[in-house]
Amino acid sequence: MAEIIDGKKLAKKIREELKKEVIEKKLSPKLAVILVGNDEASKIYVRNKNKACEEIGIEFEEHLLSEETTMEELLDLINKLNEREDVSGILLQSPIPKHLNIKTAFETISPEKDVDGFNPINIGRLEINEPSFVSCTPYGVLKMLKEYKVEIEGKTAVVIGRSNIVGKPLIQLLLNKNATVIVTHSKTRNLEQYTKQADILVSAIGKARYIKSDMIKEGAVVIDVGINRDPKTGKVVGDVDFDEVSKKASYITPVPGGVGPMTIAMLMHNVVQAAKKN
Ligand code: NAD
Repeated sequence: MAEIIDGKKLAKKIREELKKEVIEKKLSPKLAVILVGNDEASKIYVRNKNKACEEIGIEFEEHLLSEETTMEELLDLINKLNEREDVSGILLQSPIPKHLNIKTAFETISPEKDVDGFNPINIGRLEINEPSFVSCTPYGVLKMLKEYKVEIEGKTAVVIGRSNIVGKPLIQLLLNKNATVIVTHSKTRNLEQYTKQADILVSAIGKARYIKSDMIKEGAVVIDVGINRDPKTGKVVGDVDFDEVSKKASYITPVPGGVGPMTIAMLMHNVVQAAKKN
């Protein structure tokens, strides 16, 4: 039976350490969050980030923009926040309305305040293994592996999914730690041919219980990034069929309580880092 990688517990520990650091170093971190439009899920995410900020002692500044906001207005706000010395980090909650260009918006956020790690400058810095802000979910995955002393160097790591916010930065992070990385995606043929090779398997595809025990190697470390609704029960489940895979893996993350809580903890980490630098 696999050991559970407890993301909830680790995230709590990280938040407590950050809270201590903010007090001891007399930091004044401030996160400015921009929310455009009325996406209900985004409102919940923003509320959760606000709660985490309060707990740690990070000031939270919310900018609610209407669905009709123009690109000019959005960029104007980002530029103003870039210039303000009291703002340590800027986060643009996605998705934003379709008439706005999210790429341009991310590019406009100053790389020094880009706590989500979505600015191409930070993506490039990660690519050449320079210090940078790293996208919070993949960063959280790396932190979990480190905390549970999972060796990465020389291991075969298979990443399923190649999105800009999860899969791609994760591929780079694992490569920077000297793993042999195999990248798979929706056009990969015979997926299990690759997943069976994984010492470390990370799934970020968004398909409920898609990864079965016959797709993994005995003793693999399995990290489940997926957050899906079980079509029958409506319960939140991962990409991995936890009940069967946990019998074969050596370590596994649960959903919920795995990667999810780590994402917000790493965002808080990035904001505190930004406050130290700026
Ligand atoms: P995405 O839709 O942008 O990307 C999905 C990726 O999976 C694509 O690269 C696609 O090629 C690949 N894929 C899809 N079906 C596949 C298949 N059958 N075989 C192999 N590859 C396949 O999604 P995303 O934003 O990267 O998110 C992925 C999942 O992770 C979602 O469930 C999302 O909710 C979850 N997520 C969780 C967190 C967290 O904090 N835990 C954060 C971000 C995303």
